[in-house]
Amino acid sequence: MKLYSTLNKENVVDLKTAVLKGLADDGGLFMPTKIPKIEKEFFENIEKLSFQEIAFKVAKTLLADDIPEKTLKKIINESINFDAPLVKIEENIYCLELFHGPTLAFKDFGARFMSRLVSYFNKNSKKESIILAATSGDTGSAVAHGFYNISGIKVILLYPSGKVSQIQEQQLTTMGGNIQALEIKGTFDDCQDLVKTAFTDKDLNKKLKLTSANSINIARLIPQTFYYFYAYAQIKNLSKKPLAICVPSGNFGNLTAALIAKKMGLPIKKLVAATNANDTFPIFLETGHFKAKDSVETISNAMDVGNPSNFARILEIYKFDLDKIRKDISSKSYNDEETLETIRETYQNHDYILDPHGAIGYMGIKDFLNKNPKYNGIFLETADPAKFTDIVNKAIEINPPMPQRLAKCLNKEKESLVLTSNFDELKSFLKTI
Ligand SMILES: *Cc1c(COP(=O)(O)O)cnc(C)c1O
Repeated sequence: MKLYSTLNKENVVDLKTAVLKGLADDGGLFMPTKIPKIEKEFFENIEKLSFQEIAFKVAKTLLADDIPEKTLKKIINESINFDAPLVKIEENIYCLELFHGPTLAFKDFGARFMSRLVSYFNKNSKKESIILAATSGDTGSAVAHGFYNISGIKVILLYPSGKVSQIQEQQLTTMGGNIQALEIKGTFDDCQDLVKTAFTDKDLNKKLKLTSANSINIARLIPQTFYYFYAYAQIKNLSKKPLAICVPSGNFGNLTAALIAKKMGLPIKKLVAATNANDTFPIFLETGHFKAKDSVETISNAMDVGNPSNFARILEIYKFDLDKIRKDISSKSYNDEETLETIRETYQNHDYILDPHGAIGYMGIKDFLNKNPKYNGIFLETADPAKFTDIVNKAIEINPPMPQRLAKCLNKEKESLVLTSNFDELKSFLKTI
């Protein structure tokens, strides 16, 4: 796989460089120069394959020349080692549960796959790799988990102080070992800007081997394509209607992965990008103008992104053709009140507990199906509701069941270093490690 920078088509690198750098030298995002198609026959029997078999086929199609088959199979089997079941909620609407990994959010897929890819590409290097990741809540713990105790790797997590849930903060700050949490006095966008600045700082990059772990890293997007294929495999024999998938979106990595899957030949007819009050993308579709905003806080905090990074990749996939984007993707924004109401109604009517992010996905697909009744709808449930106990409790007055692996980190001592959003502070800190 060859990749180019979204800021300069001539800037082409191999997969190893793209994975270890995360972001191109010019500040652009890496995009594959070519997205290969999977042959039609694969889809004829896809329902007979396991999740891991499907993942391997997709990965092999994308990465055939970069990683030996045996190694790739091992990476898949170790990272895609939990299920993503499709659950029926009501007639024509299914929920793809992506939260069965170790940190209970879909970010586990990307983080686990990426950490193994980084280790593989790093295996002959003597210099310690620093994984720098900004997190709006769920990325951090997934990344930390993926890299935990891997020698030669140190993980630095930047999270916005007071803007992640208490459970998320516990997950981020209690791992110890090779994981360091930085509590930034600012927003997620500030954290993301700090990371981006660090990657373009010549002085720092001379000294340290920095690797990015945000959804800007292409190694996170690759495994996120797998579950769209698996979702299709699960729904294929249930209905022949055209398929619409709704992705609750923040930084739009998950949506970009869906677009890559579609480009590879997966029969997704329509994508719906549902957002919270951070409505940069729906406004873009409506007006044709992309205007980044400051992020606003919502109860679906992992989607509080005012300047979605992966927007640049979406433009590349569609070669900047707005009409084509509008043909494939629709988008709508929902507020906190609607989100709580949806959690309440879904519990009452369907006995299913949604988390606030999944609730936005559910609203998105419902609205879409109301206007387009000939479709089958899938929405992604991106986190376990137990990660957002307080919010869910506010809606339905009971606590969602607490999985053991989450309960374990709740009574550990928090450890973090507080910094402002001034880059010099981060730089000084990085120089000491
Ligand atoms: C990160 C996250 C999202 C948003 O995904 P993007 O790829 O950034 O659009 C949605 N829900 C949850 C629970 C998340 O952690």
